[in-house]
Amino acid sequence: MGMTIAIDGPAASGKGTVSRAIAAHYGFAHLDTGLLYRAVGRRLLDGQDPVEAARTLDAGELDEDALRTPDVAQAASKVAAIPEVRQALLDFQRAFAARAGGAVLDGRDIGTVICPEAEVKLFVTASAEIRAKRRHAELVDKGMDIDFATVLADVEQRDARDMTRADAPLRPADDAVLIDTSVMSIAQAVAAARAEVDARSGG
Ligand code: C5P
Repeated sequence: MGMTIAIDGPAASGKGTVSRAIAAHYGFAHLDTGLLYRAVGRRLLDGQDPVEAARTLDAGELDEDALRTPDVAQAASKVAAIPEVRQALLDFQRAFAARAGGAVLDGRDIGTVICPEAEVKLFVTASAEIRAKRRHAELVDKGMDIDFATVLADVEQRDARDMTRADAPLRPADDAVLIDTSVMSIAQAVAAARAEVDARSGG
């Protein structure tokens, strides 16, 4: 079974956790497309031109831990509004989605722009407070000294920027299934996602 699964949603909605679990369960490859934009954002913070950065991005730069900070996230959502940056990252994402063994991609525009033909499209969301609470706990867990208000502000600012940009704004595809994880455990969210995949693959 070589299907493509598109999982979109706002910042810290739980889509990464759901995506990893789904990929592991079905034996599919997983691409967190946010890391591509974060790596470009990192290079912007280092003083580079973001379009040039996107065109010369290297897989070795996608170090999840180093890129998962609020300043990199903010830079990522700024470079993500530049059409030439999005264009430069398109082929890599489409090639990944087309791999024979099946692929799960998570991001903001996977179901709408990158993989409009994906067999399964999920839109994972939760209230801003709950998302910020989860992200805050995650960062504190990693030893970061950061307060809740900063994380909430990051989540809200990025949501606003991601939803209002002209090119590939964050929105559910018309045929996406909504999973609101506000009052769900991780296990419940993963079960809901698996039910959709099984329903669409006849499994
Ligand atoms: O998902 P993550 O929080 O790592 O994404 C960081 C930023 O990258 C988002 O706020 C968004 O601006 C951008 N992004 C995007 N399209 C994607 C994935 C991420 O615009 N497919």
